[in-house]
Amino acid sequence: MDKILISACLLGANVRYDGRHNLIEHPALQHWKQQGRLVMVCPESLGGLPTPRPPAEVQSRFPIFVSTRDGEDVTDQFLSGAEAVVKIAKQHNVCCAIMKSHSPSCGNTFTYDGSFSGVLTEAPGVAAAELIRHGIPVFNEHQIDQLIRFVEAQTEAA
Ligand code: SF4
Repeated sequence: MDKILISACLLGANVRYDGRHNLIEHPALQHWKQQGRLVMVCPESLGGLPTPRPPAEVQSRFPIFVSTRDGEDVTDQFLSGAEAVVKIAKQHNVCCAIMKSHSPSCGNTFTYDGSFSGVLTEAPGVAAAELIRHGIPVFNEHQIDQLIRFVEAQTEAA
């Protein structure tokens, strides 16, 4: 049975920048959790950032630059977290990932635009981008139906 990478905050871990979580309760996630298929990661924690921590946003992608609202450069921590997440994904041979939408680390399609004003831009977060670059499909918590179809197709093909 293929394993699935998941943002730790979606499983209720208090690892968000503000010390809270983004728990989602969905039967499929409960089922996969009971089967031991979920591999929980928090890229920002893995990159060495504390909880709570100041919120950060991606300011530039080429070259990559991530900073807090006060201008503290946290690019190295974001990159190191992304690297750690890919390493864990490969160790567990995950088929795919479900990551928190809009996060500068975990967002798979849209992320905040760097202005700290709640505006989104169409670009993945730092860790999600690395997973995608390594061929690991990334879904978000609003795409669970798509994720279920993907996982079922993987199982049938095995
Ligand atoms: Fe959740 Fe990802 Fe943010 Fe960690 S980095 S708190 S897993 S969204």
